[in-house]
Amino acid sequence: MPEMPEVEVVRRQLEKHICGRKVEEVVVRHPKIVRHSPHIVEDLRGKYFISVERIGKLLTFGIARSKSTKQPETYMLGHLKMTGQFIFVEDQQKVGGGHSMTESDFELPHRHTRVMFHFSDGATLYFNDMRLFGFLQIVTPKEKGRVWATYGIEPGRENYTLENFLQIFKNRKTSLKALLLNQKVISGLGNIYVDEACHRSQVRPQRRVNSLTKTEKERLFHNCRDVMMESIEHGGTTFYSFVSSDGVKGNFSQHLEVFDRAGEPCLRCGYEIEKIKHAGRGTHYCPACQK
Ligand SMILES: [Zn+2]
Repeated sequence: MPEMPEVEVVRRQLEKHICGRKVEEVVVRHPKIVRHSPHIVEDLRGKYFISVERIGKLLTFGIARSKSTKQPETYMLGHLKMTGQFIFVEDQQKVGGGHSMTESDFELPHRHTRVMFHFSDGATLYFNDMRLFGFLQIVTPKEKGRVWATYGIEPGRENYTLENFLQIFKNRKTSLKALLLNQKVISGLGNIYVDEACHRSQVRPQRRVNSLTKTEKERLFHNCRDVMMESIEHGGTTFYSFVSSDGVKGNFSQHLEVFDRAGEPCLRCGYEIEKIKHAGRGTHYCPACQK
């Protein structure tokens, strides 16, 4: 499953390529993807995409009747879930990303193509999803606000302040990893990045949150943000085979210090990295330098 940095890379590409384009026709090839919005074809026909935002891993497309409109009149929510991809094609050139793509994915449409957005200038946006967990949904600005309000503070957003970050630890008895993975409390961090942030902060992911010192929480505040921002700058982490064809190739996996490094020496102290199952997820840490 792509994590937030990979989705942010997709967002940046879509923003560059679809904003200002007019939707001439929408073709739904599998109704499950638009299960919440059976009228999506009529809702989008003749409209413009004017913005592409993101919260957590949820893409949010602003839709309007004119491309010069500043405030979207409706929104389309889009989630890649396990195997979704957005691929934009114009003049044989393909741009996009999401779940791993093989060469055959580039002959479009193919059997996993679920929705096609044909633009008035001949370009096309494809939504492919092998396992059909992804979705596209049309919502009003009010509904969009309600959905966005269910997400917690997020590294890179205005609400990510030290004060708000310290607040999320209050009256909690879970482990650090469980807390940082809880998207309603803090959004954007996935399994890889929680392990990395904990290693940088020299704190074990399985620590009870009520045992953390203020200094440790402050370290976590900075490292949770830094690890996400660095991954976005590197185009995401490639071992989820995030691919795009306009030169953005995720290479953050080269910078991972603990994730997927079980049995290898800790880059800080040389001790062997251990992998355990915690909070239902494969969890990597250094037993020597993480307390
Ligand atoms: Zn170590």
